Amino acid sequence: MSVNSRKKDLGTCQFCGEPIKEVRCGWGCFTPGCDALIYRDDRFFLKVLGRKVTRPEAVRLLMGDCIHMRDASVKGKPADIELSWGIKDDPRFRYGYFIKFIRGSKPNSDKDGTSAFDVLNGESS
Ligand SMILES: [Zn+2]
Repeated sequence: MSVNSRKKDLGTCQFCGEPIKEVRCGWGCFTPGCDALIYRDDRFFLKVLGRKVTRPEAVRLLMGDCIHMRDASVKGKPADIELSWGIKDDPRFRYGYFIKFIRGSKPNSDKDGTSAFDVLNGESS
C-alpha cells in the first residue's frame, strides 16, 4: 500500500468538486455557497467518539467516503461503525454525520445534551 499524500492535493469536495484545503481550524472546500468544513476539534468526534478527527478521516468524509471504524468507542461503548458525512435534512445544521452500526448499538439516551445522536442511523431518514 503506498501512501501518496501531498498537502496541495488532499482531495475534492463531494458537493462542489473543488479542492479540499487545509487551514488552521480544519479542512474544507471554502467555496461560497458550499462551505463544507470539518473542524480539527470537531464536536461530534470529541463528544461521541472521544477523540479528534484526523486529517485523512476529515478528507475522506469531505470527499463523501464512508469510513469503517473497527473497535471504535461510541460514547464509551465499543462498536464497529461506518461513518459518513453529508447534507442533513435538518434546519439546525447544514451538514452532519451519519453512523451505521455494524456491531454494538446506539446508546439509548442523550443525557449530556448533545444533539449528535439526532443524526445517527442515516438509514431511518
Ligand atoms: Zn464544496
